[in-house]
Amino acid sequence: MTPEEFRKHGHRLIDWIADYRATIEQHDVMAGTQPGEIKARIPSKAPEYPEGFDAILDDVEQTLLNGLTHWQHPSFFGYFPAVASPASVLGDLLSTGLGVVGLSWQASPALTELEEVVCGWVRDLVGLSDAWSGVIQDTASTSTLVALISAREKASDFSLARGGLQAERQPLVVYASGQAHSSVEKAALLADFGRENVRTVPHDASYAMDPEALDALIRQDIEAGKKPCAIVATTGTTMSTAIDPIRSIARIAKAHDLWLHVDAAMAGSAMILPECRWMWDGVEEADSLVINAHKWLGVAFDCSLYYVRDPQHLVRIMSSNPSYLQSSADGRVVNYRDWSIPLGRRFRALKLWTLLRAEGAESLRARLRRDIDNARWLAEVAGSSPDWRVLAPVPLQTVCLRHEPAGLEGEALDRHTLDWVGRINASGKAYLTPATLDGRWMVRVSIGSGTTERAHVESLWESMRQAVEPR
Ligand SMILES: *Cc1c(COP(=O)(O)O)cnc(C)c1O
Repeated sequence: MTPEEFRKHGHRLIDWIADYRATIEQHDVMAGTQPGEIKARIPSKAPEYPEGFDAILDDVEQTLLNGLTHWQHPSFFGYFPAVASPASVLGDLLSTGLGVVGLSWQASPALTELEEVVCGWVRDLVGLSDAWSGVIQDTASTSTLVALISAREKASDFSLARGGLQAERQPLVVYASGQAHSSVEKAALLADFGRENVRTVPHDASYAMDPEALDALIRQDIEAGKKPCAIVATTGTTMSTAIDPIRSIARIAKAHDLWLHVDAAMAGSAMILPECRWMWDGVEEADSLVINAHKWLGVAFDCSLYYVRDPQHLVRIMSSNPSYLQSSADGRVVNYRDWSIPLGRRFRALKLWTLLRAEGAESLRARLRRDIDNARWLAEVAGSSPDWRVLAPVPLQTVCLRHEPAGLEGEALDRHTLDWVGRINASGKAYLTPATLDGRWMVRVSIGSGTTERAHVESLWESMRQAVEPR
């Protein structure tokens, strides 16, 4: 493609995306396609000769669009808000367009230095002290894996420089609540703790970790000759945005000299609101934390902010220094490859920078407050309607609820729940994700798509009331 062709198609593509966003409500929110249906419509071999860009865009419209669930739709209430603000989309395009790779500071100084600056901007916006240093990772899964590897190496006095965990005398143990994200267990297993050494800490009635139970488990493990190593606490769990009590947990971590990692992947965005910061009270006592800027904050996927108090610890574990990456600036600059698993680094900072500059913090705060208000409204109307029950506190934008008509319980109630949510999803009018809480199916309404206004939540409530009507 020549630069002139690129210009022409690029303009058209931006127009196409702008039109898609402007008319997104015409689409059914959930893809209605069957498994394999899209694949069957795409040639199984790559083309030998050039095809026009028009043909490519046609196939996007005719083939791919059908197979999409529209996350940016204002009636998308599934999973979590993955707000891809147009300003960050432009930053992402710019990053790809520049096509630079941050192997080292020298490999593109602005890539590293902008990342340092925007990590600092967000740190200040969420009210963290300047004792934290940040680095952008792809996802919270990676951030938490790095946290647990860091914890492992601290507790084992750098076992990787010797025989690794295999040569350790005492098994190291990780603690997280049963409400922690699945990525925590995955990270613990990949960091080689072993399933036997991953403890599930009980939670209280609000689904928050019970610190006394945590302390008891740690003592039991010490008694049994194991070595407690790390606690992962969550600010805003995936199922119900439950809030683990960080301050009490931090006290226990300090008393036993454990690493404390705070998973604020989802709720971290809300810390730009001073009125929400009680939710991670005590966070300054943690060793590491993760905030996914690619969720509610509005940065196009992927952009996960990983903050640590001691970046030198990352360097001790992950530095690699082949001759071709050395430069005379080393020692005076940050080389982010030593703070992360991958060597190559995208210019992700750009999309965070364009978002923050084009929108300004105050408009992000207003959007998040709008979403929290909408969630409270839904919790109130559902909570005061006969047969409906709100199942967990609603501190943020997720409402967990169930329709419980008299006489229905157990598996019959599960069937009813999956039935009505399935009807709404199949209608295309809205998209919700069912999930289990305390072993029973319920429906999570996750509010916060960029364009979701009160009217969309009202119309969802109307659809829900219709969907539960006996037929
Ligand atoms: C979304 C989420 C994760 C996983 O995020 P990825 O970036 O997809 O790995 C982990 N923890 C919590 C609390 C989350 O909300």
